[in-house]
Amino acid sequence: MRKKIVAGNWKMNLDYNEGLSLFSEVLNMVKDEATGSQEVVVCSPFIHLHSIAQLAKGSAKVSVGAQNAHQNESGAFTGEVSAKQIKSVGAAYVILGHSERRQYFGETNELLAKKTDTALANDLKPIFCIGETLQEREANTHFDVIKSQLVEGIFHLDASQFAKVVIAYEPVWAIGTGVTATAEQAQEIHAFIRKEIAAKYDQAVADATTILYGGSCNPKNAHELFAQGDIDGGLIGGASLKSRDFTDIVKAFN
Ligand code: 13P
Repeated sequence: MRKKIVAGNWKMNLDYNEGLSLFSEVLNMVKDEATGSQEVVVCSPFIHLHSIAQLAKGSAKVSVGAQNAHQNESGAFTGEVSAKQIKSVGAAYVILGHSERRQYFGETNELLAKKTDTALANDLKPIFCIGETLQEREANTHFDVIKSQLVEGIFHLDASQFAKVVIAYEPVWAIGTGVTATAEQAQEIHAFIRKEIAAKYDQAVADATTILYGGSCNPKNAHELFAQGDIDGGLIGGASLKSRDFTDIVKAFN
């Protein structure tokens, strides 16, 4: 059984105290809700990471993650944060290749392949984001785009390293827009991603890979999305900033 995950991405929201109170609420609310092999991950800005990792210590179900990490181990990279530093404060995950990083910070598949290697070398599990823009979907190139993001970003990994990666399919046109991919549209892409993994590695690796959906996921649509055979949870932006909504999404598996 592959792992089911609901991950929150706070993006650049919440000051330090706001973040800590939201996380404490979430911790309280989800501790009885996440069932079986299900995990809840909160990806905060760097400033919250150490404190929320401390709060999460007693919880078997809740982990924390960063939203980015540098590709180098250390050095003169003013303003950047390394995978080792992130790991050292108790984080387990790091989001890599979010479309906002690709769009606003020029992150390419080639760079993301390096970031993935460095994250894994420091024992952080990447939540590797892929997804097409509206133009790419309208031009009917979305399958090609997704395939190259996989091939150039993470398919250089050997099977044992690949097993530590969580994939998040986030169609750019659905992020923060209120326009969710339909369950059928999302399932079609998730099945395609799993097929590509099976072709590159094997069916067992593909069956064990957790593939999350992200993009305007909310308590109303989460249940239908998570009921699809190849959708193993969600990467949640806006709705992760409200403890009730986020908890309701965590419950959407049940
Ligand atoms: P929204 O849930 O706000 O659309 O954001 C999705 C996302 O980008 C999560 O990484």
